[in-house]
Amino acid sequence: MLLKDKVAIVTGAGSGIGEGIALRFGQDGAKIVVAEVDEKKGKATAAKLKELKADALVVPTDVSRVQDIDAMVAKSFQHFGRVDILVNNAGIRFASLIIEMPDEEWLKTIGTNLTGVFFCLRRTAAEMVKRGIPGSIVNISSVAGMRGIRNRAAYCAAKAGVISLTQVAALELAPHNIRVNAIAPGLIETALTAHYLTGTDPDSKMMAEKFAATIPLGRWGQPSDIAAAATYLASQESSYVTGTTLVVDAGLTAA
Ligand code: NAD
Repeated sequence: MLLKDKVAIVTGAGSGIGEGIALRFGQDGAKIVVAEVDEKKGKATAAKLKELKADALVVPTDVSRVQDIDAMVAKSFQHFGRVDILVNNAGIRFASLIIEMPDEEWLKTIGTNLTGVFFCLRRTAAEMVKRGIPGSIVNISSVAGMRGIRNRAAYCAAKAGVISLTQVAALELAPHNIRVNAIAPGLIETALTAHYLTGTDPDSKMMAEKFAATIPLGRWGQPSDIAAAATYLASQESSYVTGTTLVVDAGLTAA
């Protein structure tokens, strides 16, 4: 029970990695705020948490809207009396070459994947500081924030921004005993990557085959692989770790 009685906000907890993290945290004794734009998916995760006998609060939240975030954080503190952990996981991804990318695609990707992380981190950390709560914040970046990938300019730039934001936040929040770290997942089987495995787009298929051949451990990752890393960073097991990005990619970027 590494997270016994801790309260954790997990954004985008309705599917994939976010759901995996919420369920693992629940098994480890935490109470979970499911902050999810898709209320139906959020409720489904909360039902699974209930089966695990873990407390859950679903707060419909679009992390690209600062008003939603302010309301979600206020509701979390009000309902559970405290928040110890924030996992900034919600994310989206589109595919376009830079010279063809619609303005909206850039703005939406940065708005959700980078500005959303900033707003959630700022609001939650401010409450933690005000109440003297020692906290842990985990931001889900990507190996795409460490390498360039064709067709993914907005996504790569946002994820690189998350790594940088993590470092600055770690410095600023260290005096308040709030640790801030990131995780850079490699290839994880979720709705976000389903098109690689099942899609017909030739570019995606080519990348999927290329990726599969280059994963040193020889398999795609599962949400539980990222949840294990998030549990480590959220818990006291990592009490001397802040400002780092933990790469969880089966060796993909080691080459
Ligand atoms: P997913 O699509 O399965 O899950 C994303 C969840 O976020 C969904 O439940 C979705 O409804 C929610 N969401 C989307 N926009 C939101 C918003 N504006 N506000 C609140 N919730 C929102 O994807 P996933 O693969 O589980 O991705 C989770 C995170 O992991 C993302 O940040 C993604 O960039 C990152 N990541 C994924 C992979 C991978 O291979 N799957 C690799 C590296 C990083």
